[in-house]
Amino acid sequence: MKNTDRKKIALLSSRNPKSEAVSKELWNKLKDANFIMTPKNPDIVISIGGDGMLLSAFHKYENILDKVRFVGVHTGHLGFYTDYRNFEIDELVENLKLDTGAKVSYPILNVKIRMIDGRVVTARALNEATIKRLSKTMVADIHINGVPFERFRGDGIAVSTPTGSTAYNKSLGGAVLHPTIEALQIAEVASLNNRVYRTLGSSIVVPKKDKIIIDPQHDDRYSIAIDNRTFVYDNIEQIDYQIDNHKINFVATPRHTSFWNRVKDAFIGEVE
Ligand code: NAD
Repeated sequence: MKNTDRKKIALLSSRNPKSEAVSKELWNKLKDANFIMTPKNPDIVISIGGDGMLLSAFHKYENILDKVRFVGVHTGHLGFYTDYRNFEIDELVENLKLDTGAKVSYPILNVKIRMIDGRVVTARALNEATIKRLSKTMVADIHINGVPFERFRGDGIAVSTPTGSTAYNKSLGGAVLHPTIEALQIAEVASLNNRVYRTLGSSIVVPKKDKIIIDPQHDDRYSIAIDNRTFVYDNIEQIDYQIDNHKINFVATPRHTSFWNRVKDAFIGEVE
C-alpha cells in the first residue's frame, strides 16, 4: 500500500482506566494493521468512552467535518453515537481494513449568538443548544420563519438536532425524530402557562428552510449549553438557529445499526 493510501486515524479517549486501556490496545492493533495513528488532520476519528466522548470528539474536529468520519466505541452499554463496545475492537479493526470510505451523515445545528454591540459568536451543536436565564424567569420572543410566534416565559428553551432528539429534548417531552428528517426541534423547559402567560406548550418541529430566532427580553446573564459545554453571556441581542451547511459523517461500518434499533435498545430493551 502506498503511504498516501494509508488512512490517518485519531483516537480520543475519556479519562478513565477502562477507556484508556481500550485506547492503548486499539492504537497498537490499528498501527499493526498499517494505519497512520495521528491526531493531526485525520480521516477517521475514533472516540472511546460514551456519547459524551463522541460529543467532545465532534467539537475537537468540528472545523474539518467534511473531511473526517467518526466511529464511537463505548466502554459501558451501547450508546447513541457509539457502534462498538470495548470487547468488539478486533471486529472494528477488521471492518476498518475493509472500509471503502462509505459514510452515514446526519444534520447538525448552527447557532449564531448576536450581541448588543454587534459581535456574533457562532457555534455548532450535534445534540442541542439550550438557553437559560441565570437569575430569574426567562422571557423571550420566539420567531419562526419571520413569524413572531410566541412570548415564552419559563426556565429556558432547547433547540435540538434530529440525533439530539433522543437526548435532553426527549427528557423535555419532545418527539424522537429520525435523523434523515432534516429538521430542528424547539422544546420548552418548564414554561409558565396560566391565564396571563401562554405558549404553545408542546415541542415544535421546524423544517430545514425555516430560521428560528430567540430574542431574550432582558439585558441579563444567560447560559447557553452547546451539547456537553456551557457558556455564559451578557448582552445577548438575539440567537439564530438553523441547520448547518455541514453534516457529521460516521463510518458506515456493518455495526452502524438502524436508528430504531438504537432507540429500542436505549429506552425499551427486549420485549417479552
Ligand atoms: P452526561 O454525562 O450527563 O450524559 C447524559 C446522558 O445523555 C448519557 O447517558 C448519554 O449517553 C446520553 N446522551 C447523549 N447524547 C445522546 C443522544 N443523542 N441520544 C440519547 N442519549 C444521549 O452528559 P454528557 O455526556 O456531557 O452529554 C451531554 C448531553 O447530555 C447534552 O447534549 C444533553 O442532551 C444531555 N443532557 C440531558 C439532560 C436530561 O435528559 N435531563 C440534562 C442535561 C444534559
